Amino acid sequence: MKQEGWIEEKFKDYFCMKYKIKEVLFEGKSEFQAVKVVETEGHGRMLLNDGLVMVTERDEFVYHDMIAHVPLFAHSNPQKVLIIGGGDGGTAREVLRHQTIDKCVMVEIDKMVVDACIKFIPQTSSSLSDERLELIIEDGVKYLKSNNEKFDIIIIDSTDPIGPACPLFGEEFYESVYASLSEDGIVVAQGESAFYEKEMQSKLLGIVASKFQISALYNFSNMTYPGGIWSFVYGSKGTHPYNRLREDRIMSFDGSFKYYNINIHRASFQLPSFMINELRDYIKL
Ligand code: SAM
Repeated sequence: MKQEGWIEEKFKDYFCMKYKIKEVLFEGKSEFQAVKVVETEGHGRMLLNDGLVMVTERDEFVYHDMIAHVPLFAHSNPQKVLIIGGGDGGTAREVLRHQTIDKCVMVEIDKMVVDACIKFIPQTSSSLSDERLELIIEDGVKYLKSNNEKFDIIIIDSTDPIGPACPLFGEEFYESVYASLSEDGIVVAQGESAFYEKEMQSKLLGIVASKFQISALYNFSNMTYPGGIWSFVYGSKGTHPYNRLREDRIMSFDGSFKYYNINIHRASFQLPSFMINELRDYIKL
């Protein structure tokens, strides 16, 4: 499907980013969203859901390193991980690099996203065939409501709060998350932009703070998420995000990281003043 030109990601009704593309590789409309994979000129292959950039081959390592390795190294012995969303497979890929993992369950609502990524973005989807991964095509909210299993870590790798992702940013959902975590369990969630989604970000952190003993927010920046700074929300029943990091465990990890390291881990929790002013009531460390 050759279609050269530019693709626009409209963010808000007053801002957009444009990428030069070489080819549209896949275009479909699922029950949940419009799914598109394009070959770009400068960012490699790119997945867009409802016109919003989810991943690009060029910078996906930043997001996936930080969503996976921060909770997995904060936890003393992570064995069972649940991913909600994450259909491109990048988060599962990084989780499964940890030798301690016996089982990783990934609950993605949209089979079309998974299929498109398996076919067109092997860079992120390559680990979806790992035998420790159980892929369930279902609404993550529904799954967790009826779940009886306990996980060491739950990662919410979701789209922005639009359509089926809306309840993933709600209070009831976090009650199910809490109930499904083990005693030293950790939740990490895609936490939006401090510049463009200030209200949503503080609402989400406020919910996590109201349910969990420890709550915090950590930042990263990549090339394609609008606004420069993007965040993850961290909640736990008692595991501090960086006070008891085991340097030896990180140093002896099999293979290198492209973005993550121990200093980035600690530093990512240091917030700029405008964020501290906005969020200080919800940060419990
Ligand atoms: N890194 C990405 C970002 O922040 O732009 C998110 C990546 S991943 C593609 C997000 C996935 O969450 C989508 O594939 C979407 O289908 C899935 N999702 C949205 N709502 C969901 C729900 N209620 N249950 C499970 N998966 C959901």
